[in-house]
Amino acid sequence: MGKRLIALFLLCAAIAAAQTKAIRAGHLIDPARGTVTDDQVIVIRDGKIVAVGTHPEIPNGSEVIDLSHAWVMPGLMDAHTHLTYGVPPALFRLTDNYLVEGSGLRALHGARNAREVLEAGITSVKDIGNDADYAAVDLRRAIEKGWVLGPTMLTTGKIIAPFGGQSRGVPPEIGPYWRFEYIDADTPDEVRKAVRQNIYYGANAIKLVADSNKYFYTEAEIRAAAEEAHNAGITLAVHVLGGQAARNVIQGGADSIEHGFALDDELLQLMKAKGTFLAGTDFPAAHFKAMQYGADGGKKLAADIIDRLGRAYRIGVKLAFSTDIVVEIPGKTRGEMTMDYLDVWTAAGVPPKDILKAMTANVAELFRWQGQRGAIAPGQAADIIATPANSMENIQALRQVIFVMKDGKVVKAK
Ligand SMILES: [Zn+2]
Repeated sequence: MGKRLIALFLLCAAIAAAQTKAIRAGHLIDPARGTVTDDQVIVIRDGKIVAVGTHPEIPNGSEVIDLSHAWVMPGLMDAHTHLTYGVPPALFRLTDNYLVEGSGLRALHGARNAREVLEAGITSVKDIGNDADYAAVDLRRAIEKGWVLGPTMLTTGKIIAPFGGQSRGVPPEIGPYWRFEYIDADTPDEVRKAVRQNIYYGANAIKLVADSNKYFYTEAEIRAAAEEAHNAGITLAVHVLGGQAARNVIQGGADSIEHGFALDDELLQLMKAKGTFLAGTDFPAAHFKAMQYGADGGKKLAADIIDRLGRAYRIGVKLAFSTDIVVEIPGKTRGEMTMDYLDVWTAAGVPPKDILKAMTANVAELFRWQGQRGAIAPGQAADIIATPANSMENIQALRQVIFVMKDGKVVKAK
């Protein structure tokens, strides 16, 4: 009997050890503090970090991962992406995509994109709509079940907007075909109903488009959405460019402004005072060019974005790294396209340590994940990446992610 108990005990200990991993980190970056600590060990059990330090106790039989020559940091986050959306440049028009790929193919397309961003080191994203009939919600469920590899996702489901979504001038006889991806909501009550409908169908974040047409959401309509979202414990993101529409969004209590390309200093000051995040989707010029954007290929807008990001940074607005990739550039993965945005942040004068914070701790705060994800500390999910060079010195080091762990599972190790 005693021998059996000992055997059982040893078996349990072996199982416990098998679930434990220890990473030897040569240089550990803490983006929230902007510091680097050398020769640290991270102990991971059941997908979570249980200890970090110079000599933490490593259970016998743990799997040891040697990153003693690398720079190790929390997984990166993208606060604005569309994983189930990706059209070749020549086809780029938001509405036309409905006629090219249905929901099923969009979900599978999203599975490919999800894997590509994860392998590039992006372990969490917010998928912000334009996902056909909740294809990104199903992609999120498939990732959560372990059927496909991808980042931890927030999904907003259908975009809520004043009549017409983001379409313009669709002839009346065609009908409101934008409802494939949008919910028309034109009073505070309709907005409330639309938020509830989205949550019912699986959204775990909410997105409005405030100003795609000449009419735009009032402060009361924004407030209705914010109240409904916050009551359900989730956040509200609002696409808006600037002006009175942006003022309504900030005063109405949105958690983040998406794009905000035309925000002036006064509105940025107001965002700072209210704690509103800027998810600026700070497009590189090359991506606008690929979209064949505007008469000048998006040159002026790309320059305006660099200026706006620089002003937002200097004023002290909370910045969330965000991309908004919707085209596919031949020969580039989604992960590589994501890293193209680093050039814009550098051009705007944001130093590497603050870019890293905008890609981790800030997004975790926007997502209301503090204490759960976004840092390497006990109790946090083990979302950990590594690069051979120091991204605190040169942000371009992020283009060479050699190790990715998500929820304690190694998904890439070179
Ligand atoms: Zn977008």
